[in-house]
Amino acid sequence: MISSKPEKCLILVVDDLIENLQLIAFILEKRGYETTFATSGQQALERVESARPDLILLDFMMPYMNGLEVCERLKANPDVAEIPIIFITASHEQEHLIQAFERGAVDYITKPFNTPELLARVRTHLDLKYTREQLKKSLRDQAELTKELQKLANTDPLTGVWNRRHLLTLCEREINRSCRYNRFFSLLMLDLDRFKQVNDIYGHSVGDEVLIAMTKVVENSLRNVDFWGRFGGEEFVVVLPETNLESAVEVAERIRKTLEKTVITIQEEKQVQITVSIGVSSYQLEDTKIDAVLQRADKALYEAKNQGRNRVIADKYSNRQGS
Ligand code: GH3
Ligand code: MG
Ligand code: MG
Repeated sequence: MISSKPEKCLILVVDDLIENLQLIAFILEKRGYETTFATSGQQALERVESARPDLILLDFMMPYMNGLEVCERLKANPDVAEIPIIFITASHEQEHLIQAFERGAVDYITKPFNTPELLARVRTHLDLKYTREQLKKSLRDQAELTKELQKLANTDPLTGVWNRRHLLTLCEREINRSCRYNRFFSLLMLDLDRFKQVNDIYGHSVGDEVLIAMTKVVENSLRNVDFWGRFGGEEFVVVLPETNLESAVEVAERIRKTLEKTVITIQEEKQVQITVSIGVSSYQLEDTKIDAVLQRADKALYEAKNQGRNRVIADKYSNRQGS
């Protein structure tokens, strides 16, 4: 794809002979390119930094710092290494060209210049640079898109927390880590109390808003290392790494009390209050699958519901570790 306009391209011409600079500048400017100059290697390096040209025409033979050294230094600087360098050589210098290519030059032209050839090479390398940049950009865009899609696939669309599938993947990772490194973790299974009534009284969309508000409250009670997700309708699972049963019960109590106190205002008029029941379990050495830990938390949750809701119950088989 050729869409970089010549007039938008800046070309740095480096030559210790002013006459050469003038001649090349005349040819390029007539074609609509912008030009800038340097008459020494050192000046070339400075000019590249300040002007960031699209392409460099670089004299091979210059006093103090020759073209090869300039090329080498530019290629070593990641900020400018992508700028294509075309060497300008006298015909007797051709044997050194291989060194120029080894140092990253893309092409060369020989003095005395053939104007159409000079312009053709300049155009080709500007186009190639543009295509490379477009390609890089689209690869970047694609990587970002993939990341976004991945996140979308792992997230519950209503609340923005992890969905069940991804939550289970993270749980499996956590249990593998605990088995391998002899670590521990606890798990909360949290279910909104009589949530069906909220829907029945206020309508389903208010119910949705309540779920969203509730996830924000829980989120604020968790540490960075904790993770959680929506396990089913109004049921959530929180995983607390490196946390024993006793501390997990404290976290659960904090969440329960905070939710109990929270008045959720919806559409600036409806005020809804909810409570949660929470079952707590801890990973045990004999657990090889997350299901075992989940099942114990589920049992404890069931017990919490049975005992009247709005309470935290710890699984009685989960207390042998990490305390
Ligand atoms: P319990 O205290 O025993 O848990 O009672 P409950 O009413 O919360 O439990 P039940 O399982 O009978 O009902 C769950 C309700 O949660 C019914 C269902 O419509 C509602 N629910 C599940 N997911 C959503 C959702 O995404 N949005 C809304 N608004 N409601 C939901
Ligand atoms: Mg419920
Ligand atoms: Mg439920």
